[in-house]
Amino acid sequence: MAALIVNTPRKVQKAKYMRQVILPDFPIEGGCQCGKLRYRLNAAPVMFYLCHCSECQRHTSSAFGESLRVLAADLEVTGKYATTGRLSDSGKWRQGHFCPSCGVRIVHGDLKTDELLNVKAGTLDDPTWLAPAGHIWTLSKQSFIAIGGDELDYPRQPDDGYAAIRARWDEMTGGGH
Ligand SMILES: [Zn+2]
Ligand SMILES: [Zn+2]
Repeated sequence: MAALIVNTPRKVQKAKYMRQVILPDFPIEGGCQCGKLRYRLNAAPVMFYLCHCSECQRHTSSAFGESLRVLAADLEVTGKYATTGRLSDSGKWRQGHFCPSCGVRIVHGDLKTDELLNVKAGTLDDPTWLAPAGHIWTLSKQSFIAIGGDELDYPRQPDDGYAAIRARWDEMTGGGH
């Protein structure tokens, strides 16, 4: 008998232990490896989560993607960037912007039209304050990644439009965005 897979978090109870995030003073900055493509984030992010889908594993050439979701209006990108894209399963054209000199991606989303963008958080000058509010696509996570029993863990895309992850991020950071 096939297991019933429900696209909701495996664990939704209140965490016994929740990492607190102390937001830095904004603006904060980040950029590519060679330094030609830079960005500045002028206000607190909307949320931070990790994506364990196979596309994120491929484009990061690592185990997961780090998505720092921000309001496009709060993000300034400076320097020359190139854009790549792919058609997602949902039929949406998903763009990634990267430095043409060193190849590092700094942001996902349409820089001209999207209200929300995903900064690739590993490119922050100081990423040490971050802790994820949730994990998505853990159905395809690498076997050596351990997710805590009290963390939000979605086998696939969250079916609540990221509401639970966003609420948890607000709790972790001590207030709404
Ligand atoms: Zn570069
Ligand atoms: Zn992904």
